[in-house]
Amino acid sequence: MSGLLPLLLRRIRQAGPMTIAEYMGECLTHPERGYYTTRDPLGRAGDFTTAPEISQMFGEVIGLCLAQSWLDRGAPAPFVLAELGPGRGTLMADILRATARVPGFHAAKELHLVEVSPALRARQAEALSGAGPVWHDRVEDLPGAPVFLVANEFFDALPVRQFLRQGDGWSERVVGTDGERLAFGRTAPAPLAALADRTAETVEGALVETCAAAGALAGEIGRRVADAGGVALILDYGDWRGTGDTFQAVRGHEKVDPLDAPGTADLTAHVDFEAIASAARDAGAAATAMIPQGVFLERLGITARAQALARSGDTGAVAGQHRRLTHPDEMGDLFKGLGIHKRGEPAPPGLTHDA
Ligand code: SAH
Repeated sequence: MSGLLPLLLRRIRQAGPMTIAEYMGECLTHPERGYYTTRDPLGRAGDFTTAPEISQMFGEVIGLCLAQSWLDRGAPAPFVLAELGPGRGTLMADILRATARVPGFHAAKELHLVEVSPALRARQAEALSGAGPVWHDRVEDLPGAPVFLVANEFFDALPVRQFLRQGDGWSERVVGTDGERLAFGRTAPAPLAALADRTAETVEGALVETCAAAGALAGEIGRRVADAGGVALILDYGDWRGTGDTFQAVRGHEKVDPLDAPGTADLTAHVDFEAIASAARDAGAAATAMIPQGVFLERLGITARAQALARSGDTGAVAGQHRRLTHPDEMGDLFKGLGIHKRGEPAPPGLTHDA
């Protein structure tokens, strides 16, 4: 057991209820008792699985997208090949394998990983031992060079706040206690400048989520590509300016109560791609249109790759993986892709700009 509950109860008794974001942050990344800090949650025996863990095809086509983006920019050397939240290192291992024959790419790359979890850093060290990765706690710590970056299912782990529309004001959903257990509560409604643009379009009782960390991170990425060049590919589940409660907990591949046994379940929220795009644009970079993951992977040639793999392997398994990653009823529509890059340079392959 993580033992996070007593710490949270004490904090709430001393300082009052926590925002959902504070709760999410403590549960996921508390330095000793956080969910990610203490475990490898991925895979069938873990709590959830991700696209790169489903099939090597995902990382292969993403790798080729990054390598083509690098070629399109005149093959800058050296450059930073970066991943945010690399999990078990599977995606980056597939990226490296798929790009091994792109002339000059490996020689020019410096591999940098942003990862909070010591447990997952150890897995990444095993998976990527030949590539000499350097780890960082934060994106701000990446070196300043042209950056080619991928973040898959990373932004969904960033803490969100939740606000309920009440009259012209907003009431924040918070985590307090009803004695020995955690319980949701609400603050008194008050006008909120940060949500002024959502007041006109929402109805009484609507729930809106904000993610300050995602905006800050997208801004930092935007500044870096605007200054030094490069591209960032962001893949996650979410939408363009969503509404509604998407805060959820998953343990053992099942949805569970997010307040139950804090620090032992994965907590996520849908990613607001509009907020990411506008933070990147405000920082001086270009952001592409958001597209469904299935469309993105198809444009990057995943079907041809699946056919090639099927010829030399288990056709049924490959077809199943392809379907899982791309089909609208599976991960194809719920997950989205978006690119951030330097203004005036072409969008990464597979992505386009709104007309
Ligand atoms: N990208 C991987 C793993 C996704 S799980 C995949 O697709 O399989 C989320 C990853 O982000 C984990 O590696 C987790 O430890 C890391 N992570 C979560 N919150 C983080 C934070 N605030 N800073 C850095 N890494 C974080």
